Amino acid sequence: MLRAALREVSTALKEGRVSPTELCQRCLSLIKTTKFLNAYITVTEDTALRQAEESEKRYRRGQSLGDLDGIPVAVKDNFSTAGIETTCASNMLKGYIPPYNATVVQKLLDQGAVLIGKTNLDEFAMGSGSTDGIFGPVRNPWSYSRQYKEKCGQNSRLENEDSSWLIAGGSSGGSAAAVSSFTCFAALGSDTGGSTRNPAAHCGVVGLKPTYGLVSRHGLIPLVNSMDVPGILTRCVDDAATVLGVLAGHDPKDSTTVQDPFNPFELPSVIDVSKFCIGIPKEYHIPGLSSETLAVWSKAADLFENAGARVIEVSLPHTCYSIVCYHVLCTAEVASNMARFDGLEYGHRSNIDKSTESMYAATRREGFNDVVRGRILSGNYFLLKQNYEKYFIKAQKVRRLIANDFVNVFNSGVDVLLTPTTLRDAVPYVEFIKEDNRTRSAQDDIFTQAANMSGLPAVSIPTALSEKGLPIGLQFVGHAFQELQLLTVAKWFEKQAKFPILQLQEMLDHADALSHQKISLFS
Ligand code: GLN
Repeated sequence: MLRAALREVSTALKEGRVSPTELCQRCLSLIKTTKFLNAYITVTEDTALRQAEESEKRYRRGQSLGDLDGIPVAVKDNFSTAGIETTCASNMLKGYIPPYNATVVQKLLDQGAVLIGKTNLDEFAMGSGSTDGIFGPVRNPWSYSRQYKEKCGQNSRLENEDSSWLIAGGSSGGSAAAVSSFTCFAALGSDTGGSTRNPAAHCGVVGLKPTYGLVSRHGLIPLVNSMDVPGILTRCVDDAATVLGVLAGHDPKDSTTVQDPFNPFELPSVIDVSKFCIGIPKEYHIPGLSSETLAVWSKAADLFENAGARVIEVSLPHTCYSIVCYHVLCTAEVASNMARFDGLEYGHRSNIDKSTESMYAATRREGFNDVVRGRILSGNYFLLKQNYEKYFIKAQKVRRLIANDFVNVFNSGVDVLLTPTTLRDAVPYVEFIKEDNRTRSAQDDIFTQAANMSGLPAVSIPTALSEKGLPIGLQFVGHAFQELQLLTVAKWFEKQAKFPILQLQEMLDHADALSHQKISLFS
């Protein structure tokens, strides 16, 4: 049952073939067995069991609330959860217990979903590996797949385990690892430059970044307000559509959400792709793209062509500037967003308090990691009076050009764009941390960031396994607010791709062998 799609689980719950408590207990016990993945920061065992019990009563009365009633879900630890610690993986917010739920969390709970835990991330979602938070890195569950194990000869070299495990991608790596290792049925991530799609690609799950303005950001602790979107991680496209149906819609508490009512949809079961036009951006053939990923991408384009879709090469001439432009806009927004963490209202407060000034400085030095402090410094530099025009305003103008590239392509008749999600499959942690956070993000966000600049919906679909047996994802980008069309194309593709889900037992067996070894999560 843990592997089932949301609709199947929901039917099984309605028919009484499984109970919410049973489901919850099985997820909780799997969370314990897979603790070495470090996917969760907080496991909300007691509240989850209580919520499951409530759900059980509703089912008994024949009054279930909706599609998610009794189904365990996880939430990235940068969404506020009433009464449950929300840390953003930062010393600044360690111990912070919000008095309210983020709108998206509340919407999940209103549907009867069982909140099983809060997932790990990069500090304040700044990163692309889930390696840069105070709770240590997330391990990619695929590090323990048979194929990767064989390729890396780990059977005979178990002692080298700590140097071969892979990053989960980020910054929503905890959510992606949790969904991929079956400890929950769906999870919330956030996506500002690729943070939902990147870990989805690396962990072999579906990662949807909805159109900016479709899903409320109220209660999502901001990174870049003008680009942040709550993301959805699931094991199949249908599930992503179901969760989107629960989350989407206007929220009076977030003035950037659109007023138009959102009609939840079910994706068609028979899909004719011949009526779609798929665009392949020519500028996305870049150095650094692995030959395997390139081959998977080309094969995907052929699949569409062979099924009668129109596949054409398109040009997005300005998207190559999205990374440098993001650097300016992200840090500028970070600089102002982070001003609220001053040690006075909530979060960490330093003991060094000889003066207000010294208390502020010490609080922020102790509370933030180097990455966050670095971004605050850069952002304030770009916002200085003498630099504002040169950097901030210029970046805003380039942002417009990037967004216009997509408009032009879509106006020319393209329905959906097809691109890689990442340059390559997941790398070992020891390799990943050789580069600094900024360099890594610049590489890792290369195909994903432009969709945030333009506010467009985009989804990463697990497509194939690499030589090493690791997931490779492809990204589809759609017209604004055309999630139905985007996910319809993605669902057709998912069916053709036949991506093999992670073999849970193999992973657990391997992990079991390892549990006799010392696994240091912080190594
Ligand atoms: N990698 C990007 C950054 O570090 C994007 C992160 C995100 O989408 N939250 O800013």
